Amino acid sequence: MGRIEIIGGTPRSVSTLYCVGRNYTAHAQELGNDVPDQPVIFLKARSALRPLSSGPLAFPSETFHHELELVLLIDRGAALGSQVGWDEVGAVAVGIDLTRRQVQHRCKERRLPWTPAKSFAGSALVSPFVPRARLGSPVGALRFTLTVLGELRQQGDTTQMIFDVPTLLTYLASLAPLEAGDLVYTGTPEGVGPITAGDAFQVSLESGSYRTNYDGRL
Ligand code: MG
Repeated sequence: MGRIEIIGGTPRSVSTLYCVGRNYTAHAQELGNDVPDQPVIFLKARSALRPLSSGPLAFPSETFHHELELVLLIDRGAALGSQVGWDEVGAVAVGIDLTRRQVQHRCKERRLPWTPAKSFAGSALVSPFVPRARLGSPVGALRFTLTVLGELRQQGDTTQMIFDVPTLLTYLASLAPLEAGDLVYTGTPEGVGPITAGDAFQVSLESGSYRTNYDGRL
């Protein structure tokens, strides 16, 4: 646990799991939230990390919401207050920010932190990481999809982010230095919906002529 696979590389341990909320306008609206004027950030425990098809899952009898997200691996640390961009990103993956939506609603109503809704064993699903060098230079638009039980549920495109990758990373570095091994879940596009333990799903990642996909099972 707390380790990721890198295509063509060796598995590595991760540091902090940062997550971005409300980074796509249509998703903010589907949950009735305002479009934010600065990034919404929360954290997950490192031990919440899970490969796409195996590993512990807390609350296995609950119905979760899937949030499909592009995930960045920070490969080069960045000092507090520095400008950060794609140069600090070593690889990217497709992940699911698995969410206990009803618990999150209750947390919001009570003005409490979202942690019990967002950070639990298996809640940070992640595919193997694709080294940035395979995605072209500079990195262009990245598109990613999630299919659950054969049905296309979510499609993301990084050009539709409210806060782009350099803006997100520079904001994070304004809070605390970024460390090699940090992961950043960059927010979900619209189409979040139910998924339960045992459901089969597939994620894909596309950049120019590069395309990869992975099968998973919750
Ligand atoms: Mg999310």
